[in-house]
Amino acid sequence: MSSDPRRGLPRTDDVAGDARLAAAVARLGRAAVVAAAREVLADLRSGAAPLDTADLDTADLDAGADRAGAEVLLDRVVAQVLHALPGGASSLRPVLNATGVVLHTNLGRAPLGASAVTAMVDAAGSTDVEFDLVTGARAQRGAEVLADLRSATGAEAALLVNNGAAALVLATTALAGVGPDAGEVVVSRGEMVEIGDGFRLPELIRSTGARIREVGTTNRTRLTDYTEAVGADTRAVLKVHPSNFRIEGFTAAASVAELATLPVPVIVDIGSGLLRADPLLPDEPDVASTLEAGADLVTCSGDKLLGGPQAGLVLGSAELVERLRRHPLYRALRVDKLTLAAMQATLRQHLLPGGSTPVSEALHVSSAVLRQRADRLAALAGGEVVRSEGRVGGGAAPGVPLPGWGVAYDEDLAVALRRGDIPVVARVEGGRTVVDVRCLPDATLDQVADAVRQAGRRLTTEGGTSCSS
Ligand SMILES: *Cc1c(COP(=O)(O)O)cnc(C)c1O
Repeated sequence: MSSDPRRGLPRTDDVAGDARLAAAVARLGRAAVVAAAREVLADLRSGAAPLDTADLDTADLDAGADRAGAEVLLDRVVAQVLHALPGGASSLRPVLNATGVVLHTNLGRAPLGASAVTAMVDAAGSTDVEFDLVTGARAQRGAEVLADLRSATGAEAALLVNNGAAALVLATTALAGVGPDAGEVVVSRGEMVEIGDGFRLPELIRSTGARIREVGTTNRTRLTDYTEAVGADTRAVLKVHPSNFRIEGFTAAASVAELATLPVPVIVDIGSGLLRADPLLPDEPDVASTLEAGADLVTCSGDKLLGGPQAGLVLGSAELVERLRRHPLYRALRVDKLTLAAMQATLRQHLLPGGSTPVSEALHVSSAVLRQRADRLAALAGGEVVRSEGRVGGGAAPGVPLPGWGVAYDEDLAVALRRGDIPVVARVEGGRTVVDVRCLPDATLDQVADAVRQAGRRLTTEGGTSCSS
């Protein structure tokens, strides 16, 4: 068994032509995959990367007789190539957000902070998510995260589900019930919103069989509209924060405090998950104030202004939250251990004095700091420093301007930037590509500058033809 197993390694072309790499070839081009395969094989041959052959008959391999062994080696090499390619083994590729939109839905909304990423990695293996290490008994799932949610918001009780839509569906379904003795949920006509990609909240609620009773008009709904509608069949009143649009002019809406005088539970979907009031976003409701105003249940997203992982939060009365937790639907909507870990780390960032998340940093960064960042990028990679207006995004605070800075380049650069090793998603505006630096922390600037230079070179070698796609 002294022969060298490395001689049984597959040829570069066999690796690059493997069906498991076809998607990577389509995404990155054959040259990139061949180059990665060549590198992985070279490292294995030179011994720079270890080759685990304990379970292989190396003598047979050497003689080319062990077909199964050769396949095992091919499997291992393919796995390593997948890992070595940009984006790793997943087809989700990390990108740099140069759009100036803090919560960019197409770019995964809130980027997690370093402590949340570490917490997810730590929780990825076996973990004590439902286990008490002291007594050895089963424990309540994610009990400590829920405790942190309570202390961050002052809520009596809390529950975590898969996303904001799930939180809303669970709250309305559990309270309204379905079937013959289902009751009604009263909603203002001014709050029957579509949240994006064709998702309409009323349709979502009705899809479970719950009944909606519409009150008021598009622009005006008063407390008396609710009072007249609330009757024996009413199980709850739902107030939805119309986060992605504003109605201006002759408008009226009942406040949470007014609704709290009604003899039925009040559910408020605040959308963005701001835990406490933020002076930068005066029209954005927050969990703590909404509960204080008298809401019985507040629902929101975890990956918008809260800055955590995708999740839905339900906060409020202990009795109602317990009803939701016992509802059969809850089991289908609950979050996994990775979400619990990331949420807890995010909440602990919030609870620290002066604690921040990548989302709050991108929102609150001063114009002066952004100017310095843009100057530095221009010094490293050229371009013209320009004013650039950012946005909150994620359907939050549509009217709030976020004045900042960026660096402007040729319009064609945007496409080349998206095709780089680390794609940079910039804005195209007024015939130019603007790299807005709001969501590009200082630590990423060298990477961004590299990407800009690389994209510029690619444009020149491609003859400056605009390759629109
Ligand atoms: C975003 C939003 C939702 C949906 O939350 P997801 O986390 O995207 O499921 C529901 N209601 C409002 C008001 C929202 O802004």
